[in-house]
Amino acid sequence: MPSTTGVSEQRVLDEFLRLVQIDSVTFEEAAVATVLEEKLRRLGFEVLNDRTGPSTGNLIARMPGTTKGTPIVLNAHMDTVEPGRGIRPVVEGKVVRSSGNTVLGGDCKAPIAAILEGLRAVLAAGAPRPDLEILFTWAEERSHLGARALDMSLLKGKLAFSLDASQPIGTLFDSAPGYWSLLATFNGKAAHAGVTPEKGINALVAASRAIARMPLGRIDDETTANIGLITGGTVRNTVPAVVRIEGEARSRDDSKLAAQVETMSAAMREEAAKLGVVLEMQFKEEYKPYRHSPDSLVVVAAGRALSRLGLPVSIVPTGGGSDANDLNAKGLPTVVMGCGMVDTHTLEESFAVADLVMLSRVVTSLIAEAAELEY
Ligand SMILES: [Zn+2]
Repeated sequence: MPSTTGVSEQRVLDEFLRLVQIDSVTFEEAAVATVLEEKLRRLGFEVLNDRTGPSTGNLIARMPGTTKGTPIVLNAHMDTVEPGRGIRPVVEGKVVRSSGNTVLGGDCKAPIAAILEGLRAVLAAGAPRPDLEILFTWAEERSHLGARALDMSLLKGKLAFSLDASQPIGTLFDSAPGYWSLLATFNGKAAHAGVTPEKGINALVAASRAIARMPLGRIDDETTANIGLITGGTVRNTVPAVVRIEGEARSRDDSKLAAQVETMSAAMREEAAKLGVVLEMQFKEEYKPYRHSPDSLVVVAAGRALSRLGLPVSIVPTGGGSDANDLNAKGLPTVVMGCGMVDTHTLEESFAVADLVMLSRVVTSLIAEAAELEY
């Protein structure tokens, strides 16, 4: 078991502060990718940029192990949400915040800093390690487009640990929902509302009847649905010809998700048909759900790594998607780990220095666990 005392609070804090000051909003990750590529090379990794994104690509870094164990992948994402330009981090006591007009970018720069610090500690201690791969993705915040574009033949790891969740360190996510997006246009016919209303076909009526028929909100403990946007019509005294709606459905169970999508689709098809409205409907599967059993190797290994540090382990489902949905769907067992981000995606976002240190120790512990794990 490697010494985890090799983790330096000052070094990981400095690293984090530097990283958040490099702008990397979604689709503009090139500058931070260049810096990270250089840092990984200096640590001794062979780094490949797959160039799949608009400004850069996914970084895939490899280092051969010193022991057999189980090859693992450590994953985090390089992009941050808006407002995320010109971030000025402020250290207040033992907590890092933004200066108040941007997010902090702890999602996901804190895990990136912790991965780099954990690697430094393991390498400096000469602790046993299996074959290691680091995967830093682009555009996780936009339906994980980077992970989606990733060619899995570039990764040899057998288990992946995705450091990308705001829950406390010690939390493991064993399942996440799949996601379908909906974009529908109801095409009716315009007419003067007072003079010739019978010549019109009211698209707004068809759309609202369809929405009223849909089960929405929380469908059951693992399924949700929403219509989030409606636009249409032109003026008060014209029968509205065109109405667009946007919505979504999520479930951790694939068949429940398919059933929900079908119920929503049928409501739109039938209500449109009743009024002679022409419906253009685009229900699109953005990503698939996943579910690991509690005794699956990836969950067990992550749990043991946390236990090595004396952390209480809590295994829970999540309602959100991440890179892990795509990695799991493409056959790499991936578990998402809580990182201690607070108020992420808001101007009040913060990150405790103690959590930066603990997260770095989690990285050393994951490596130690994998070094001893027979695959
Ligand atoms: Zn994230």
